[in-house]
Amino acid sequence: MPQRTGTTQRSTRTTRTTATRRATTTRARGELPYKAMVRLAKKHGLTVTSTTGGRHNRGSLHGRGRAIDVRTRGVSSARLNAFMRDARAHGYQVLDERRRPPGQAVWSGPHIHIQKR
Ligand SMILES: [Zn+2]
Repeated sequence: MPQRTGTTQRSTRTTRTTATRRATTTRARGELPYKAMVRLAKKHGLTVTSTTGGRHNRGSLHGRGRAIDVRTRGVSSARLNAFMRDARAHGYQVLDERRRPPGQAVWSGPHIHIQKR
């Protein structure tokens, strides 16, 4: 009786994964951008206060999984600046909303918003 249980199905999906070396803070194939953003924020020891949920401004990229908000309260400027630099280096747009942006309809309090269009 041949014993071939479990091994046959795996063969098709193992190709390419070894060739693509990627840092954990970059986006995995097919993954919504906010997930990599969350990993980046966590790498900096920051708290993510919003991803795809919550109340946001018209045209916000949150609902499309392309933006996150990060808590700034109690975090030093040095750490926030390092995070913002790193976020820009990852190709994200950074909105420093520690103060309410002029004319902004919805503002949930001090935070940093990062997004990818
Ligand atoms: Zn936001």
